[in-house]
Amino acid sequence: MTLTALDPVVPLHELRQVAEGVHAYLQPDGGWCLNNAGIVLDGNGPVLVDTAATEARARQLRGVVRELSAKPVSILVNTHSHGDHTFGNHLFGEATVVAHRRAAEEMADHGLSLTSLWPDTDWGHVEAGFPRVVFDDRMTLPTSTSPVEVLHFGPGHTAGDAVVWLPGQRVLFTGDLVFSGATPFVLMGSVAGSLRVLDRLRSLDPLVVVPGHGPVGGPELLEANAEYLRWVARLARGGIAEGLTPLQLARATDLGPHAELLDSERLVGNLARAYAEQRGARLAAPLDVPAVFGEMVDYRGSHPHCAA
Ligand SMILES: [Zn+2]
Repeated sequence: MTLTALDPVVPLHELRQVAEGVHAYLQPDGGWCLNNAGIVLDGNGPVLVDTAATEARARQLRGVVRELSAKPVSILVNTHSHGDHTFGNHLFGEATVVAHRRAAEEMADHGLSLTSLWPDTDWGHVEAGFPRVVFDDRMTLPTSTSPVEVLHFGPGHTAGDAVVWLPGQRVLFTGDLVFSGATPFVLMGSVAGSLRVLDRLRSLDPLVVVPGHGPVGGPELLEANAEYLRWVARLARGGIAEGLTPLQLARATDLGPHAELLDSERLVGNLARAYAEQRGARLAAPLDVPAVFGEMVDYRGSHPHCAA
């Protein structure tokens, strides 16, 4: 088959320099399983922010890192426990893996369970992440060039999120606390907590925001995610008052401007989380994730595709 200009060719990745020696590694289109990573060049060896879902994609990332630096990755920060960000960790065996304490616990608890959600995906050889260094609130990485901070501001996308903040360059790697062009997802985290965290991220005053999925942007991405989550919280209040289940409410809801976001079925999961919180559950308390995911599939009318 010959490709013509009309054939959509989606590159497997895109490398974007966002500051001197700082790169965003993007995997279009940022939908399910297609996460972003980050590479910060440093005299001690690159700092890597997250890996990728499948062996093939993690190998591709490793190849790109090796083109950028002759030194092995010194530190690998996992922004949270999810497999699309962590299953490739084992291909960077030389690196010290850093994550929030709760993220490390989740990686140990969940193992490779994400693969069973998408049994048809060619995962290759993947392993659950195994952070060697955990932190609770913040840590400054031992870099030689410019400061790199790893910060946790409470439950958001998960119970154990970390952001990577470069105060000198004002670049912020948010992990899945921020989605760009795709629907935010807090089923395993918190609506109220995410809103709090997004406020804290705004106060860092970043110039560049590298989201966990989707295109790079600026601080407007923080507001866009907050706006969506405030909308979810308002919807949930109405839905509870009317006695609707999250799935019934999602089906009755006009997505409005949010219809443009990828993976809109996440609304059902986000509402399930908002309901739990508004009924008094503590932030990021465990919910029946497989059951709610099943309702997301019902809402969508098909199983979402993991394009990794
Ligand atoms: Zn995630």
